[in-house]
Amino acid sequence: MKIDLHLHTSERSKCSIATEEQQIKAAISYGLDAIVISDHNKLVPVQHIEELNEKYKPFKIFGGIEITIHGNNNMNEDILVIGLHDEILQEKTWTYEEVYNFVKSRGGYIALNHPFRYSEEVNIDIERCIPDAIEVHSTNISRLDEQLITDLAKRLGSKLICNSDAHNIIHTGIYYNDIGGNPKNDKELVEKLLAGEYKLCKDDKRVDEHNKQVKEREDFIKELIKQGKTAEDYCKITGSWAGPFEKVARGKSYEI
Ligand SMILES: [Zn+2]
Ligand SMILES: [Zn+2]
Repeated sequence: MKIDLHLHTSERSKCSIATEEQQIKAAISYGLDAIVISDHNKLVPVQHIEELNEKYKPFKIFGGIEITIHGNNNMNEDILVIGLHDEILQEKTWTYEEVYNFVKSRGGYIALNHPFRYSEEVNIDIERCIPDAIEVHSTNISRLDEQLITDLAKRLGSKLICNSDAHNIIHTGIYYNDIGGNPKNDKELVEKLLAGEYKLCKDDKRVDEHNKQVKEREDFIKELIKQGKTAEDYCKITGSWAGPFEKVARGKSYEI
């Protein structure tokens, strides 16, 4: 079963420009068998997941949630929870330790999404509360961080996952996990993920295409930096947010 465990829909994530229906149809067109809808701090109502599954079967839709945790150093970290639908997940302001204990004591699955995205370190205590997995590839993870993330996961004994983090259907399923068998429900999906019975996969052609565009933008930013321009200048010139400029200025890259 080819599954993207991390993507966003405009019904519950303001930053996504893709509706549920567009995400599902895009995933089907890219050859996936299933997705987990993991909106920011919002669950998909259980009854609605059932309706979506009925409408698009045999394609499978699972409901998860991406929770933002206010961590150390005044930095946030995002974690992915699968297998639980308790509304308290979206209602409470959690510390990492609290949400970890809540999820693990109820048989759920917890992963750290895109570590090192805005920071040189992980700003929650994953040494003490070891996540089931760490996301190693997505459209929000620089490929320069792959080794760092792989080493971290290995040291902690966490599995790796890779996902699109798509907020737009051009990215849906660009990275995915190919799970052995065909989990029918949350419990079976969580079991497969915990057992590591899957392969990390990507859509090579779309990754290459994506990186080509990123490289063009970053070459342009490097040129601006050479000319002494600032992030503010970059925003004015391009109408984009400062993120890409700051990343390049830190010697990082958005190539995935
Ligand atoms: Zn995130
Ligand atoms: Zn996300």
